[in-house]
Amino acid sequence: MNIDIIAGARPNFIKIAPIIDAIIYQANLGRNINFRLVHTGQHYDKNMSGSFFEQLGIPQPQINMEAGGGSQAEQCANIMIGYEKLLQEESTDLCLVVGDVTSTMACAIVARKMNVPVAHIEAGIRSGDWTMPEEINRIVTDSITNYFFTTTNSANENLRKQGIEKERIFLVGNTMIDTLYKHQNNFKKPSFWDGLNLKKGNYILLTLHRPANVDDKLKLQGFLEEILKHTINVPVIFPVHPRTAKVLLALNISHERLHLINPLGYLEFNYLSQNALAVITDSGGITEETTVMGVPCITLRDSTERPETVELGTNKLIGTNPKAIKSALKILFEGSWKKGTIPPLWDGQTAKRIVAVLLKLNENKQL
Ligand code: UDP
Repeated sequence: MNIDIIAGARPNFIKIAPIIDAIIYQANLGRNINFRLVHTGQHYDKNMSGSFFEQLGIPQPQINMEAGGGSQAEQCANIMIGYEKLLQEESTDLCLVVGDVTSTMACAIVARKMNVPVAHIEAGIRSGDWTMPEEINRIVTDSITNYFFTTTNSANENLRKQGIEKERIFLVGNTMIDTLYKHQNNFKKPSFWDGLNLKKGNYILLTLHRPANVDDKLKLQGFLEEILKHTINVPVIFPVHPRTAKVLLALNISHERLHLINPLGYLEFNYLSQNALAVITDSGGITEETTVMGVPCITLRDSTERPETVELGTNKLIGTNPKAIKSALKILFEGSWKKGTIPPLWDGQTAKRIVAVLLKLNENKQL
Protein backbone atom coordinates (compact mmCIF):
# COMPACT_ATOMS: atom_id res chain seq x y z
CA MET A 1 0.00 0.00 0.00
CA ASN A 2 1.35 3.41 -1.00
CA ILE A 3 0.34 6.42 1.07
CA ASP A 4 0.82 10.08 0.22
CA ILE A 5 1.41 12.04 3.43
CA ILE A 6 0.57 15.70 2.96
CA ALA A 7 2.22 18.39 5.06
CA GLY A 8 2.39 22.09 4.45
CA ALA A 9 2.45 24.18 7.60
CA ARG A 10 4.10 24.18 11.03
CA PRO A 11 1.48 22.24 13.01
CA ASN A 12 1.35 19.58 10.25
CA PHE A 13 5.01 18.65 10.67
CA ILE A 14 4.48 17.93 14.36
CA LYS A 15 1.45 15.74 13.57
CA ILE A 16 2.99 13.68 10.73
CA ALA A 17 6.33 12.88 12.42
CA PRO A 18 5.04 9.96 14.55
CA ILE A 19 2.93 8.59 11.68
CA ILE A 20 6.02 8.37 9.50
CA ASP A 21 7.90 6.63 12.34
CA ALA A 22 5.08 4.10 12.71
CA ILE A 23 4.94 3.42 8.95
CA ILE A 24 8.71 2.91 8.76
CA TYR A 25 8.51 0.55 11.75
CA GLN A 26 5.87 -1.61 10.06
CA ALA A 27 7.65 -1.50 6.68
CA ASN A 28 10.84 -2.74 8.39
CA LEU A 29 8.83 -5.65 9.76
CA GLY A 30 7.98 -6.53 6.16
CA ARG A 31 4.42 -5.19 6.16
CA ASN A 32 3.05 -3.87 2.88
CA ILE A 33 3.16 -0.13 3.60
CA ASN A 34 5.12 2.71 2.00
CA PHE A 35 4.82 6.46 2.01
CA ARG A 36 5.62 9.45 -0.18
CA LEU A 37 6.01 12.67 1.78
CA VAL A 38 4.55 15.63 -0.08
CA HIS A 39 5.48 19.09 1.25
CA THR A 40 3.18 21.65 -0.31
CA GLY A 41 5.46 24.52 0.69
CA GLN A 42 2.68 26.47 2.43
CA HIS A 43 5.22 27.32 5.16
CA TYR A 44 8.65 27.31 3.67
CA ASP A 45 11.29 29.12 5.71
CA LYS A 46 13.68 27.58 8.23
CA ASN A 47 11.80 28.89 11.29
CA MET A 48 8.42 27.57 10.19
CA SER A 49 9.45 24.43 8.30
CA GLY A 50 13.11 23.35 7.97
CA SER A 51 13.92 23.28 11.69
CA PHE A 52 11.01 20.87 12.35
CA PHE A 53 12.38 18.35 9.86
CA GLU A 54 15.77 18.51 11.59
CA GLN A 55 14.58 18.44 15.20
CA LEU A 56 11.83 15.85 14.78
CA GLY A 57 13.89 13.61 12.48
CA ILE A 58 11.36 13.80 9.64
CA PRO A 59 12.83 12.47 6.38
CA GLN A 60 13.24 14.95 3.54
CA PRO A 61 10.06 15.18 1.45
CA GLN A 62 10.16 13.29 -1.85
CA ILE A 63 8.15 16.14 -3.35
CA ASN A 64 8.29 19.84 -2.55
CA MET A 65 5.61 21.75 -4.41
CA GLU A 66 6.84 25.17 -3.27
CA ALA A 67 3.29 26.50 -3.41
CA GLY A 68 3.68 28.99 -0.55
CA GLY A 69 2.88 32.70 -0.56
CA GLY A 70 -0.06 34.64 -1.96
CA SER A 71 -3.66 34.82 -0.80
CA GLN A 72 -5.64 31.87 0.59
CA ALA A 73 -7.15 31.30 -2.86
CA GLU A 74 -3.84 31.57 -4.70
CA GLN A 75 -2.19 29.17 -2.30
CA CYS A 76 -5.07 26.73 -2.49
CA ALA A 77 -5.08 26.84 -6.30
CA ASN A 78 -1.32 26.35 -6.57
CA ILE A 79 -1.40 23.40 -4.17
CA MET A 80 -4.30 21.81 -6.08
CA ILE A 81 -2.57 22.23 -9.44
CA GLY A 82 0.69 20.83 -8.05
CA TYR A 83 -0.91 17.83 -6.39
CA GLU A 84 -3.09 17.00 -9.40
CA LYS A 85 0.04 16.89 -11.60
CA LEU A 86 1.75 14.66 -9.09
CA LEU A 87 -1.14 12.19 -8.98
CA GLN A 88 -1.37 12.23 -12.78
CA GLU A 89 2.31 11.27 -12.99
CA GLU A 90 2.10 8.68 -10.26
CA SER A 91 -1.06 7.92 -8.31
CA THR A 92 -1.28 6.40 -4.83
CA ASP A 93 -3.55 4.14 -2.76
CA LEU A 94 -4.37 6.68 -0.05
CA CYS A 95 -3.99 10.41 0.56
CA LEU A 96 -3.40 11.09 4.26
CA VAL A 97 -4.02 14.66 5.39
CA VAL A 98 -3.67 16.10 8.89
CA GLY A 99 -5.17 19.07 10.73
CA ASP A 100 -6.95 22.01 9.20
CA VAL A 101 -4.66 24.11 7.01
CA THR A 102 -5.16 25.06 3.35
CA SER A 103 -2.95 22.15 2.22
CA THR A 104 -5.20 19.69 4.10
CA MET A 105 -8.32 20.80 2.23
CA ALA A 106 -6.67 21.38 -1.16
CA CYS A 107 -5.05 17.94 -1.39
CA ALA A 108 -8.14 16.15 -0.06
CA ILE A 109 -10.23 17.69 -2.84
CA VAL A 110 -7.74 16.76 -5.55
CA ALA A 111 -7.37 13.20 -4.25
CA ARG A 112 -11.10 12.50 -4.06
CA LYS A 113 -11.69 13.92 -7.53
CA MET A 114 -9.04 11.52 -8.82
CA ASN A 115 -10.64 8.59 -6.96
CA VAL A 116 -7.90 8.32 -4.37
CA PRO A 117 -9.37 7.64 -0.90
CA VAL A 118 -8.67 10.22 1.81
CA ALA A 119 -7.80 9.64 5.47
CA HIS A 120 -8.08 12.70 7.71
CA ILE A 121 -6.12 12.80 10.95
CA GLU A 122 -7.67 15.10 13.59
CA ALA A 123 -11.03 14.86 11.84
CA GLY A 124 -14.33 16.04 13.29
CA ILE A 125 -13.22 18.92 15.50
CA ARG A 126 -15.35 22.04 15.16
CA SER A 127 -15.13 25.52 16.66
CA GLY A 128 -18.49 26.59 15.21
CA ASP A 129 -16.76 29.81 14.14
CA TRP A 130 -17.17 30.13 10.38
CA THR A 131 -14.98 33.24 10.26
CA MET A 132 -11.91 31.04 10.86
CA PRO A 133 -10.29 29.80 7.63
CA GLU A 134 -9.41 26.60 9.53
CA GLU A 135 -13.10 25.88 10.24
CA ILE A 136 -13.87 26.03 6.51
CA ASN A 137 -10.91 23.73 5.83
CA ARG A 138 -12.17 21.24 8.43
CA ILE A 139 -15.75 21.20 7.14
CA VAL A 140 -14.79 20.85 3.49
CA THR A 141 -12.19 18.16 4.22
CA ASP A 142 -14.54 16.12 6.41
CA SER A 143 -17.31 16.34 3.81
CA ILE A 144 -15.19 14.27 1.38
CA THR A 145 -13.02 12.17 3.71
CA ASN A 146 -13.29 8.37 3.54
CA TYR A 147 -11.66 7.46 6.87
CA PHE A 148 -11.78 9.71 9.92
CA PHE A 149 -9.18 9.49 12.70
CA THR A 150 -10.24 11.45 15.75
CA THR A 151 -8.63 12.82 18.89
CA THR A 152 -11.70 12.81 21.17
CA ASN A 153 -15.20 11.51 21.54
CA SER A 154 -16.65 14.98 20.90
CA ALA A 155 -15.12 14.86 17.40
CA ASN A 156 -16.82 11.48 16.87
CA GLU A 157 -20.11 13.01 17.93
CA ASN A 158 -19.69 15.92 15.50
CA LEU A 159 -19.08 13.47 12.66
CA ARG A 160 -22.01 11.26 13.63
CA LYS A 161 -24.26 14.36 13.61
CA GLN A 162 -23.00 15.02 10.11
CA GLY A 163 -24.27 11.55 9.16
CA ILE A 164 -20.94 9.71 8.94
CA GLU A 165 -21.26 5.95 9.59
CA LYS A 166 -19.43 4.83 12.72
CA GLU A 167 -17.51 2.17 10.74
CA ARG A 168 -15.52 4.97 9.08
CA ILE A 169 -14.60 6.79 12.32
CA PHE A 170 -11.63 5.69 14.43
CA LEU A 171 -11.04 7.31 17.82
CA VAL A 172 -7.27 6.99 18.11
CA GLY A 173 -5.97 9.93 20.18
CA ASN A 174 -3.60 12.75 19.33
CA THR A 175 -0.45 12.47 17.21
CA MET A 176 0.71 15.93 18.33
CA ILE A 177 0.93 14.44 21.81
CA ASP A 178 2.88 11.42 20.48
CA THR A 179 5.51 13.93 19.37
CA LEU A 180 5.41 15.77 22.69
CA TYR A 181 6.05 12.58 24.70
CA LYS A 182 8.75 11.39 22.33
CA HIS A 183 10.76 14.59 22.65
CA GLN A 184 9.88 15.76 26.16
CA ASN A 185 13.20 14.59 27.62
CA ASN A 186 15.10 16.49 24.95
CA PHE A 187 13.44 19.89 25.15
CA LYS A 188 16.16 22.51 24.74
CA LYS A 189 16.85 25.62 26.76
CA PRO A 190 16.82 28.45 24.20
CA SER A 191 20.11 30.32 23.74
CA PHE A 192 18.61 33.55 25.15
CA TRP A 193 17.50 31.94 28.46
CA ASP A 194 20.48 33.12 30.51
CA GLY A 195 20.81 36.46 28.69
CA LEU A 196 17.20 37.33 29.62
CA ASN A 197 17.71 35.92 33.11
CA LEU A 198 14.67 33.67 32.76
CA LYS A 199 13.66 31.53 35.73
CA LYS A 200 11.42 28.47 35.67
CA GLY A 201 7.81 29.37 36.50
CA ASN A 202 8.53 33.07 36.32
CA TYR A 203 7.70 34.24 32.81
CA ILE A 204 4.76 34.25 30.41
CA LEU A 205 4.98 32.68 26.96
CA LEU A 206 2.78 34.38 24.36
CA THR A 207 1.76 33.34 20.83
CA LEU A 208 -0.80 35.03 18.59
CA HIS A 209 -1.51 34.36 14.94
CA ARG A 210 -5.28 34.09 14.29
CA PRO A 211 -6.32 36.67 11.66
CA ALA A 212 -9.15 37.87 13.96
CA ASN A 213 -6.60 38.74 16.66
CA VAL A 214 -3.61 40.05 14.75
CA ASP A 215 -4.79 41.62 11.51
CA ASP A 216 -6.18 44.66 13.31
CA LYS A 217 -3.27 46.55 14.78
CA LEU A 218 -5.29 48.29 17.50
CA LYS A 219 -6.62 44.97 18.71
CA LEU A 220 -3.13 43.50 18.88
CA GLN A 221 -1.91 46.59 20.69
CA GLY A 222 -4.78 46.25 23.18
CA PHE A 223 -3.78 42.66 23.99
CA LEU A 224 -0.13 43.55 24.51
CA GLU A 225 -0.93 46.54 26.71
CA GLU A 226 -3.27 44.57 28.97
CA ILE A 227 -0.85 41.63 29.22
CA LEU A 228 2.03 43.92 30.19
CA LYS A 229 -0.11 45.89 32.64
CA HIS A 230 -1.21 42.79 34.57
CA THR A 231 1.84 40.52 34.46
CA ILE A 232 3.38 42.06 37.57
CA ASN A 233 7.11 42.18 36.81
CA VAL A 234 7.47 38.91 34.91
CA PRO A 235 9.00 38.82 31.44
CA VAL A 236 6.74 38.11 28.47
CA ILE A 237 8.38 36.02 25.74
CA PHE A 238 6.65 36.40 22.40
CA PRO A 239 7.84 34.24 19.48
CA VAL A 240 6.23 36.10 16.62
CA HIS A 241 4.43 34.23 13.82
CA PRO A 242 5.19 35.69 10.34
CA ARG A 243 1.57 36.84 9.96
CA THR A 244 1.78 38.79 13.24
CA ALA A 245 5.23 40.21 12.49
CA LYS A 246 3.90 42.41 9.68
CA VAL A 247 1.38 44.08 11.98
CA LEU A 248 3.79 44.37 14.91
CA LEU A 249 6.29 46.19 12.73
CA ALA A 250 3.71 48.84 11.98
CA LEU A 251 2.94 49.14 15.72
CA ASN A 252 6.54 49.73 16.68
CA ILE A 253 5.83 48.65 20.25
CA SER A 254 8.54 48.24 22.85
CA HIS A 255 8.59 47.52 26.59
CA GLU A 256 11.41 46.38 28.88
CA ARG A 257 9.57 43.16 29.84
CA LEU A 258 8.36 42.29 26.33
CA HIS A 259 10.76 40.13 24.33
CA LEU A 260 9.84 39.77 20.68
CA ILE A 261 11.67 36.87 19.08
CA ASN A 262 11.51 34.81 15.89
CA PRO A 263 9.37 31.66 15.86
CA LEU A 264 11.25 29.00 17.82
CA GLY A 265 12.24 25.46 17.00
CA TYR A 266 9.94 22.81 18.48
CA LEU A 267 12.37 21.73 21.21
CA GLU A 268 13.07 25.29 22.36
CA PHE A 269 9.43 26.36 22.19
CA ASN A 270 8.23 23.46 24.30
CA TYR A 271 11.06 23.94 26.81
CA LEU A 272 9.69 27.45 27.30
CA SER A 273 6.11 26.23 27.37
CA GLN A 274 6.79 23.48 29.91
CA ASN A 275 8.54 25.87 32.29
CA ALA A 276 6.31 28.92 31.88
CA LEU A 277 4.15 30.36 34.62
CA ALA A 278 1.46 30.34 31.93
CA VAL A 279 1.01 30.42 28.20
CA ILE A 280 -1.24 33.02 26.59
CA THR A 281 -2.20 32.00 23.08
CA ASP A 282 -4.75 31.79 20.29
CA SER A 283 -3.22 28.59 18.90
CA GLY A 284 -5.12 25.31 18.91
CA GLY A 285 -2.23 22.86 19.17
CA ILE A 286 -0.58 24.73 22.03
CA THR A 287 -3.70 24.33 24.19
CA GLU A 288 -3.33 20.56 23.78
CA GLU A 289 0.37 20.57 24.68
CA THR A 290 -0.13 22.75 27.76
CA THR A 291 -2.98 20.48 28.88
CA VAL A 292 -0.69 17.47 28.73
CA MET A 293 2.17 19.31 30.48
CA GLY A 294 -0.16 20.76 33.14
CA VAL A 295 0.76 24.36 32.31
CA PRO A 296 -1.92 27.06 32.78
CA CYS A 297 -3.17 28.25 29.39
CA ILE A 298 -5.15 31.42 28.68
CA THR A 299 -6.76 31.38 25.25
CA LEU A 300 -7.72 34.63 23.58
CA ARG A 301 -10.60 33.22 21.57
CA ASP A 302 -14.39 33.01 21.92
CA SER A 303 -14.61 29.37 20.88
CA THR A 304 -12.45 26.30 20.58
CA GLU A 305 -12.54 23.21 18.43
CA ARG A 306 -10.72 21.45 21.29
CA PRO A 307 -13.27 21.59 24.16
CA GLU A 308 -11.45 18.83 26.07
CA THR A 309 -8.59 21.25 26.78
CA VAL A 310 -11.10 23.40 28.66
CA GLU A 311 -13.28 20.67 30.18
CA LEU A 312 -10.44 18.38 31.24
CA GLY A 313 -7.28 20.37 30.76
CA THR A 314 -5.61 23.57 31.93
CA ASN A 315 -7.07 25.82 29.24
CA LYS A 316 -9.50 28.70 29.78
CA LEU A 317 -11.16 30.60 26.95
CA ILE A 318 -11.37 34.24 27.93
CA GLY A 319 -12.66 35.71 24.66
CA THR A 320 -11.10 38.41 22.55
CA ASN A 321 -11.82 41.50 24.61
CA PRO A 322 -8.41 42.60 25.98
CA LYS A 323 -10.14 43.72 29.19
CA ALA A 324 -10.72 40.03 30.10
CA ILE A 325 -6.99 39.52 30.54
CA LYS A 326 -6.90 41.29 33.91
CA SER A 327 -9.11 38.84 35.80
CA ALA A 328 -7.50 35.76 34.21
CA LEU A 329 -4.05 36.96 35.26
CA LYS A 330 -5.31 37.74 38.74
CA ILE A 331 -6.34 34.09 39.20
CA LEU A 332 -3.00 32.97 37.81
CA PHE A 333 -0.92 35.19 40.10
CA GLU A 334 -3.00 34.15 43.12
CA GLY A 335 -1.90 30.59 42.35
CA SER A 336 -5.44 29.32 41.95
CA TRP A 337 -5.41 28.27 38.30
CA LYS A 338 -7.28 24.99 37.77
CA LYS A 339 -5.35 21.72 37.62
CA GLY A 340 -6.18 19.62 34.61
CA THR A 341 -6.20 15.99 33.58
CA ILE A 342 -5.05 14.43 30.33
CA PRO A 343 -7.76 13.39 27.83
CA PRO A 344 -8.19 9.65 27.17
CA LEU A 345 -5.91 8.11 24.53
CA TRP A 346 -3.49 11.05 24.52
CA ASP A 347 -0.84 8.56 25.53
CA GLY A 348 1.91 8.71 22.93
CA GLN A 349 0.65 5.62 21.03
CA THR A 350 -1.77 7.24 18.57
CA ALA A 351 0.28 6.89 15.37
CA LYS A 352 0.72 3.16 15.99
CA ARG A 353 -3.06 2.82 16.28
CA ILE A 354 -3.56 4.78 13.04
CA VAL A 355 -1.13 2.61 11.10
CA ALA A 356 -2.69 -0.56 12.53
CA VAL A 357 -6.09 0.59 11.22
CA LEU A 358 -4.64 1.44 7.80
CA LEU A 359 -3.04 -2.00 7.51
CA LYS A 360 -6.34 -3.63 8.43
CA LEU A 361 -8.31 -1.53 5.92
CA ASN A 362 -5.83 -2.55 3.26
CA GLU A 363 -6.03 -6.23 4.19
CA ASN A 364 -9.82 -5.99 3.96
CA LYS A 365 -9.45 -4.43 0.47
CA GLN A 366 -11.08 -1.21 1.66
CA LEU A 367 -8.16 0.81 0.32
N1 UDP B 1 5.43 25.95 17.93
C1 UDP B 1 6.81 25.95 17.77
N2 UDP B 1 7.47 27.15 17.78
C2 UDP B 1 6.84 28.35 17.99
C3 UDP B 1 5.43 28.32 18.18
C4 UDP B 1 4.75 27.12 18.13
O1 UDP B 1 7.42 24.89 17.60
O2 UDP B 1 7.49 29.39 18.02
C5 UDP B 1 4.71 24.66 17.86
C6 UDP B 1 3.87 24.31 19.07
O3 UDP B 1 4.61 23.60 20.04
C7 UDP B 1 2.77 23.45 18.47
C8 UDP B 1 2.59 24.02 17.07
O4 UDP B 1 3.78 24.76 16.80
O5 UDP B 1 3.22 22.10 18.36
C9 UDP B 1 1.37 24.89 17.00
O6 UDP B 1 1.33 25.53 15.80
P1 UDP B 1 0.44 26.83 15.51
O7 UDP B 1 0.16 27.53 16.78
O8 UDP B 1 1.11 27.55 14.40
O9 UDP B 1 -0.87 26.21 14.86
P2 UDP B 1 -2.30 25.78 15.41
O10 UDP B 1 -2.09 24.67 16.39
O11 UDP B 1 -2.96 26.98 15.98
O12 UDP B 1 -3.00 25.29 14.17
